[in-house]
Amino acid sequence: MASAKYVFVTGGVTSSLGKGIISASLATLLQSRGYRVTIQKFDPYLNVDPGTLNPYEHGECFVTEDGAETDLDLGHYERFMNHSTSQANNVTTGRVYQSVIQKERRGDFLGKTVQVIPHITNEIKERMQILGNSGDYDVIITEIGGTVGDIESLPYVETVRQMCWEKPNDCAVVHLTLVPYLSAAGELKTKPTQHSVKQLQESGVFPDVLVCRTEHEISQAIRRKLALFCNVQPDAVIQSIDAETIYDVPRLMKDEQLDKVVLSKLGLKPQGEVDISHWKEFVFNLNNPKKSVEIALVGKYVELKDSYKSISEAFIHASSTTLCKVNLHWIHSEKLTDTTTSTLLKGMNAVLVAPGFGSRGIDGKLHAVCYARENKIPFLGICLGMQVSVIEFARNVLNFDDADSTEMNNLSSFPVIDIMEEQKRITNLGGTMRLGSCACDLKKGSIAHAVYGNDSINERHRHRYEFNSKYLTDFESSGMTATGINPKTGLVEIVEIPSHPWFVGVQFHPEYKSTVAKPHPLFVSFVKAALKNKH
Ligand code: GLN
Repeated sequence: MASAKYVFVTGGVTSSLGKGIISASLATLLQSRGYRVTIQKFDPYLNVDPGTLNPYEHGECFVTEDGAETDLDLGHYERFMNHSTSQANNVTTGRVYQSVIQKERRGDFLGKTVQVIPHITNEIKERMQILGNSGDYDVIITEIGGTVGDIESLPYVETVRQMCWEKPNDCAVVHLTLVPYLSAAGELKTKPTQHSVKQLQESGVFPDVLVCRTEHEISQAIRRKLALFCNVQPDAVIQSIDAETIYDVPRLMKDEQLDKVVLSKLGLKPQGEVDISHWKEFVFNLNNPKKSVEIALVGKYVELKDSYKSISEAFIHASSTTLCKVNLHWIHSEKLTDTTTSTLLKGMNAVLVAPGFGSRGIDGKLHAVCYARENKIPFLGICLGMQVSVIEFARNVLNFDDADSTEMNNLSSFPVIDIMEEQKRITNLGGTMRLGSCACDLKKGSIAHAVYGNDSINERHRHRYEFNSKYLTDFESSGMTATGINPKTGLVEIVEIPSHPWFVGVQFHPEYKSTVAKPHPLFVSFVKAALKNKH
């Protein structure tokens, strides 16, 4: 079996250049040629995983099938590649150090001084090759988080150097950089790229390919200049011009032949032909909608749209499939009160209440649910959004006046949402929630059953609290039914109100599984319900 090939993607000049999208686009092109590809991300911060981070820090925490709490870029990888990633696909400096320190305590390095080089770099190197050694992939794309020059990225850059030294025929380095346009001079500037490449070279890493983010076309003369000064072949200077949608980047990268250049650096003859017609169709449909709907996304992190990345992307997938543009209205839950809700939600064809933690913004979410339920507006509640829909129903329909989740009020006389049994003894916060894929049986005749077209599904979870089954008969006799049940534990995973046109609360996160190739059926159905509600 041929050993896996490695592509390292570094970033220079500034953050937020979109290394994740470039990596995912490259993966898409290679996949379309028939290569088995995966992407992994190495993040230079000291948290063991992003699970304990506030979304304001790095945006959404993406959850994999195997229950890893990961960087949101893994969401892009899955949405583009249409295959699942795992814990092995996201490593942080915190995890690397945790593992090295555990080994030191066990005595694995007995007698030795434990140091960044070689112990930390060896640990990184080992982890960089886990997926490559699995035999499941031909090409492993490794995105190095952060920007070249950051102190905390140094061990990763050094490891990339060692990998290239050890496997000169199996590694390629793609450096993503910015070529800014100075309007006063009317020119694109190459100096920041030259400097960032120099910085990499000083660390012994020599990029093979430059992907240049730009707002304007990069001329042949500038490409030649960049090639000469940065020590790459002219055809390895790839322009990445701002795209209207990230889903058009695979096409742009195909036009620039990024895949061919990378394959030749890896010593691979391009096999097969790139066929991205379904991507073109996806983007065409996205750009040529026949109708539109207004959907409110009610959450408490709406100032940073990355906090709900998978949800907004799932709506984009649903838009393209339904030819119906979804105009998302980001509504801060703290702004919704008794007096403002009907004004702020006026004109919305559907309401989604987002996941979340803690009591901030809960009242606003309750108002949003009440408004959607009473006005028969299609409603989707995800995780905390589902839990809030249960609380709202308990308070306003069952007249359980102080009904609550014990997360918000553990003295409530009606704890309709309660901590899961398995969670009661847990004190550590990192990586201890109910995480990852779980089975769920669907009740025939429900919206969920019709939407999924299946008796049983698997969806991903991330929570500590659950529907308190003690109250199930109260709910069911008053019109809120449990339509999805975990076959093993009996936990309620989906609630619906059958007398409402489309009211679905899900304890899991369907958004994590929506991809370009497979837009999530729940989002597609929700958008269709919004459209129906418009007429
Ligand atoms: N805070 C809730 C819980 O832990 C919901 C979590 C979520 O929305 N992801 O159960």
